[in-house]
Amino acid sequence: MDLSARACNMPAAMRETAAFSAFDEEMMRLALDQAGAAAAAGEAPIGAVLVDPARQEVIAAAHNRPIGLCDPTAHAEILALRAAGAAMGNYRLVGLSLYATLEPCAMCAGAISHARLGRLVFAAEDPKGGAILHGPTLFAQPTLHWRPEVAHGLMAGIAADLLRDFFRARRGKPAAD
Ligand SMILES: [Zn+2]
Repeated sequence: MDLSARACNMPAAMRETAAFSAFDEEMMRLALDQAGAAAAAGEAPIGAVLVDPARQEVIAAAHNRPIGLCDPTAHAEILALRAAGAAMGNYRLVGLSLYATLEPCAMCAGAISHARLGRLVFAAEDPKGGAILHGPTLFAQPTLHWRPEVAHGLMAGIAADLLRDFFRARRGKPAAD
């Protein structure tokens, strides 16, 4: 498989984990709920949940809102990072885990590194906009100061279906803008 071949060239932290825990599944379900809320608001259905894995506690949950907030940086991951930083009173979120329904873009991958997260779990791959397995493969860059452990593929089909259905429905309508 192409992906496993690519994974072999990545640092150890980039390799796929073999299995996900029941807690991982629970957290990804929350992220998918967020993605559904995004779609209901007319935003691309992408959700993110920031978790303290040691305490099994949700710190922040968010969905994509760039249109609603008139903010090109208002991706689900960025909004969850900002909310968690505010909640914890710290610009570093060391040891926290981020669950995202889609492979993060370059902006979000950079923010994840700045935040010093311990682990990133994402569902669907994004060959066009993703920056973890695709495009800039940010966490594989040797100059990066911090890279989290990465696991992906959890509930990928559900996350991809949400996106496909959303964009298919939008293409069926005249442009709102
Ligand atoms: Zn992003």
